[in-house]
Order: sequence, then structure tokens, then C-alpha cells
Amino acid sequence: MAKLLEGKTVRDQILSELRPRIASLPRKPGLAVVLVGHDPASEIYVRNKVKTCHELGIHSEHLTPPATITTDELLALIGELNARPDIDGILVQSPLPKPLDEGRVLQEISPDKDVDGFHPINAGRLSINAPGLRPCTPSGVMEILKRNAIETTGRHAVVVGRSDIVGKPMAMMLLHANATVTICHSKTLDLPAMCRHADILVGAIGRPAYLTREHIKPGAVLVDIGINQLKTRDEVARIFANDEKKLMAFDSGSRVVVGDFHPGDAMELGSAFTPVPGGVGLLTIAMLMSNTVAAAEARQKV
Ligand code: NDP
Repeated sequence: MAKLLEGKTVRDQILSELRPRIASLPRKPGLAVVLVGHDPASEIYVRNKVKTCHELGIHSEHLTPPATITTDELLALIGELNARPDIDGILVQSPLPKPLDEGRVLQEISPDKDVDGFHPINAGRLSINAPGLRPCTPSGVMEILKRNAIETTGRHAVVVGRSDIVGKPMAMMLLHANATVTICHSKTLDLPAMCRHADILVGAIGRPAYLTREHIKPGAVLVDIGINQLKTRDEVARIFANDEKKLMAFDSGSRVVVGDFHPGDAMELGSAFTPVPGGVGLLTIAMLMSNTVAAAEARQKV
């Protein structure tokens, strides 16, 4: 039976370590969150980010330009935020409505204020293991591993997923932590066999309960980054083995989510497992706060 690697404990530790650092800054850290248009899921994420800022005493500004804003207008807005001395971090919530040019917008953010860690300069810094702002979700995974004393040196880590914001930086961070790393993706041949080599198996694909017992080497550490909302009652019944609580939640219209791992198989075969919900997802905002404080410290030369 796998040990559950709960995100809450690690998140609370990280947030409580940030408080004295915030208090000792000459000026409150400032985070600007830009949410273009009205995407309901993005609105929830942004609300949670702003709420955590308030709880920690980070100054936050929530900018909500309409979906009709042009790329040039958005670039100008980011230019203004880049120039503001009281703003240490800028986050543009993705996905941006089409036809906005997300790549150009993200590259306009000053790399020193790029608290999402998506700017090519920060991707480059990560690649050469130089100091810089790192993507929040994989950073959160590294904190979970470190704070649960999970050894990475010399172990074989397999990361399934190669996106620029999750899979690739995750693989890079594990490599810098001295793991031997394999990256898999949708064109990988015989994914189950690849995954069965993993001492640490990371799922970052966005497919509900896709990684099952055939992918898991018994005793592996299983890190589940995927967050997938289940759409049918049949899926809920199948994945959660007719768990009554999950079915009742689904029937009452609540969001039922599952990660990229089949939770029953992961619990049975893994030595440790990050649950969904309650695992990696809880760390992402904490790492955003951590990046904002780090950016503020660097800019205020603390
Ligand atoms: P993307 O869709 O950008 O990338 C998915 C990756 O998975 C791609 O590299 C794709 O391969 C690969 N993939 C898809 N299907 C398969 C398959 N059948 N076999 C092997 N590889 C496959 O997603 P993201 O990286 O943005 O997000 C991944 C998951 O993480 C999502 O569920 C997302 O919701 C979640 N997430 C969670 C966060 C958190 O806070 N916990 C934060 C961010 C994301 P290819 O490149 O070949 O297409």
C-alpha cells in the first residue's frame, strides 16, 4: 500500500517559511495577475491566487482586460507592468483567447518578473541549472520529493508528457537532482514497458487514469500531475470501483477529478503516491507565491 504524499503539509510548510521573508522586505512584494476574457476555470484559479496573496500579505492586482483586447494592446499593458517598481511578478493566465499570440505575450514579460517561469530566458536558465524563476508545478513536485526525503540521485525517473510548462521542466529538474531521466510522449513506443523501468514515475499527460498497473513497477514512487474532470457516471464508477461517495458527488453535480494514474492501481503497487486531488495541485500556488517573494527579494536586493 503506497504512502500518500499529501500536498497540504508541504504547502503549509512553504507558505509559513515565506511569511518571515515577506515581513523582512522593505516593501511588500507585488504580483499582477492578468486574466483576459471570461474563462470560468481560469477565473477560479485567479481567485485562488489572489486570495493566497492576501493571506500572505503580498500586494496583488487583478487586471481583467476584455477578450477583444489585441495582442499589441496586451503587450503595451505588460510593458507598463514591467516598468512599475511596485510590481515584482507578472502572471498572464493561460489559455489566452484566440487569436491572441500567447508566445509573444509571454516573451514580453520581463524575465525577472516572470513568476510562472515560462519565459525562454528562464527556460534557458533552468536548462543550464543557473538561478532563475522556475515553473511552479514541477517546482512543487521537487518540494514534495525533497520534504518527504525521497531520494532522486541515481534513480531512474520517467516523465510522461513533454509540454514546455510541465513535462520538460519536470524532467530537467529531476536531471539536476541527479536522477537518470527518460521523457515519454504520445509517440513513445511501448509506453508501459518504458514506464515499468521507473523508480520515480511522473504522469503529466492530462488523460484520466491512463497510467495503470501495466505501467507501474512495484515499489515505484508515483507522482501524479494530471488533473482531469470526469464527464460520465460510467467513468466515475469504473475508475473509482463504484465508490459511493464519488458517485454521489457526481450525481449531485460536483466536480469529480482524477489524475493521470489509476488511483487504485497506484495505491496498490506504488511505494508512495501523490493523490489527486490533494497532491501536486496544492503546491502550484504556493510555488507561485515563492517565486513572487524571490523576485521581490532579488529586485529589492535583499
Ligand atoms: P499538454 O496537453 O500541454 O501536454 C500533454 C503531454 O502529454 C504531451 O507532451 C503529450 O504528448 C503527452 N501525452 C498525451 N497523451 C499521451 C499518451 N497517450 N501517451 C503518452 N503521452 C501522452 O498538457 P500540460 O503539460 O499542460 O498538462 C498535463 C496535465 O497536468 C494536465 O492534466 C493538466 O491539467 C495538469 N496540470 C496540473 C497542474 C497542477 O497544478 N497540478 C498545473 C498544470 C497542468 P505529445 O507532446 O506527443 O503530444
